[in-house]
Amino acid sequence: MDQLLKQDETYAGDILLEEQFTAAVVQWYYAHGRAFPWRETTNPYHLLLAETLLRQTQAVRVVEPYLELVGRYPDPWLLALANIPKLREWFGPLGLVTRADRLVKTARVLIEEYEGQMPNDLTALLALPGLGRYSARAILCLGFGVRVPMIDEGSGRTLRRVLGREHKGPAFSDRSLMATVEQIMSQTSAREFNLGLLDIAAAYCRPRKPDCARCPVRKACALDKAELARPEETRGASVFFLHLRRVGFANN
Ligand code: SF4
Repeated sequence: MDQLLKQDETYAGDILLEEQFTAAVVQWYYAHGRAFPWRETTNPYHLLLAETLLRQTQAVRVVEPYLELVGRYPDPWLLALANIPKLREWFGPLGLVTRADRLVKTARVLIEEYEGQMPNDLTALLALPGLGRYSARAILCLGFGVRVPMIDEGSGRTLRRVLGREHKGPAFSDRSLMATVEQIMSQTSAREFNLGLLDIAAAYCRPRKPDCARCPVRKACALDKAELARPEETRGASVFFLHLRRVGFANN
């Protein structure tokens, strides 16, 4: 970074803003991040239970069910022996009946193929029954400490707004966005950055009427809006993104 600053002082402000963005997310998370029981564990199997409950369900609704599920089935061996019809009944009020079968199936795969352990590899996690890309990445990051982006629709929306990216297709399958985030995360703590973004998306960066006035990352996001004031030949990417491109973090 120091070398880059010497090469071209005009990018000094951009570097500062990149650091401001990642630092703002992490610092905000430490001060205001939501407290959920699954955020207090690094047990990948317990995170699997949490992710099974959390998919397309509001987090606050699954706090009690998560604690109950972990209490009943603290390891895959007990879950593999679960009575599936009874487990379906348990999942019923949550509207998640089909997840009972999937969860028991996953527990059996873990025992048969991984000696009861969770694999710490993205490909292996994605091969588990019904485990999606976001959940697999969440388990890798929160359970194994791997620096990998956890991008769901909420955090993806925030990132696209901050980075000035087109909102096209699901964020979790946006490879370009994912590659950029991987580079940003190398500057900071992946866990806190990922969780902070999720919470900022939920608290401020809502799909409609985002609360920009109170948003902790508005300085970085304002770059994209300020883009309109830039000379025409430099338009097409946010200042922040232009910096990423300059240092080789982005290809387009
Ligand atoms: S400033 Fe507004 S649009 Fe940008 S991340 Fe914050 S809430 Fe979202």
